[in-house]
Amino acid sequence: MANSKLIIGNWKMNGAIGHSELAKAIAEGFKELAAKNVEVAVCPPFTLLSLISQTLEGENVHFGAQDCHTVVSGAHTGDISATMIAEFGAKFVLVGHSERRANHKEASELIAQKAQAAINAGLIPVICVGETETERLSGNAVPIVLSQIDVSLPDGCNASQIVIAYEPVWAIGTGRVASVQDIEEMHQSIRGNLAAKYADAAKIPLLYGGSVNAGNAGQILSVANVDGALVGGASLKAADFLAIIAAAQSIVG
Ligand code: PEP
Repeated sequence: MANSKLIIGNWKMNGAIGHSELAKAIAEGFKELAAKNVEVAVCPPFTLLSLISQTLEGENVHFGAQDCHTVVSGAHTGDISATMIAEFGAKFVLVGHSERRANHKEASELIAQKAQAAINAGLIPVICVGETETERLSGNAVPIVLSQIDVSLPDGCNASQIVIAYEPVWAIGTGRVASVQDIEEMHQSIRGNLAAKYADAAKIPLLYGGSVNAGNAGQILSVANVDGALVGGASLKAADFLAIIAAAQSIVG
C-alpha cells in the first residue's frame, strides 16, 4: 500500500444526532482537499450508522462500525452482527480494539472469529493489536504484538480483505505517542511476519494508532510501512481530522 494512505476515525462512544454535522464537515473538507491516494472513513457508534450512511451517501468518505458479533443472527441480546452493519453500506469494522480487549475481555481467538464474520459479510475488518505499557517496558512488545497477529487474523484471508492497526495501548487517548523508531521497528516486524504467511503481504494496510493528531501526523505517516492512521480523539473535530488527512495527502499526493 506504499503509495496511498488510509485514515480512519474512531468516534468511540461519542456521538449524538448532531454528529451528522461532523461527518458532513469531514466529507466537504475532504472534497475541497481533492486528496489523491488518501482513503478516509469514520466509525461512529452503532446508533448513528443509519444517519451517517445517509449523510455520507454520494460522498468519498467511507464509514464503519466499532465492533461486530461472530455470527449472523440469533439470541445475542445487545450485539450487532457484521451482516447488519453491512446492510447500512459500511465498508469497515474495527475488531479487537484494545478497549474491547480490556473492557470486554476479548481474546485474539474471538477477534479472529469476528474478523472472519466481517469478511463473510463483505466488510473489511480493521484488526487492532498493541502492547500494554508493562509489556513495552519488559522489552517484549514486538513478540507480544506478533503473537496477537498470529492468532487474531482469520485463516486463509488475503491482503485485500483486511487492515491491521498497531495501537500501543499506553498511547491510546493519553497524548503519548510511540517514538518514530519504535513505530518503524514494530511495523517492519509486522510486515515481516505477514510476508512469511501471505504472498501479498506488502499490500496489507498497516495503520498506526495512538494519540495521532494534526501536529504529529506528518511525521508518523512518513515512517516506513505506516500506511495510515486510526485516529480517536482527533477524529471528533473536523478541522483536526482534516489536518491529518492533509498531512497524509502531502506525503502521497
Ligand atoms: C483509538 O481509539 O483507536 C485511538 C487511537 O484513540 P486516540 O487517537 O484518541 O489515541
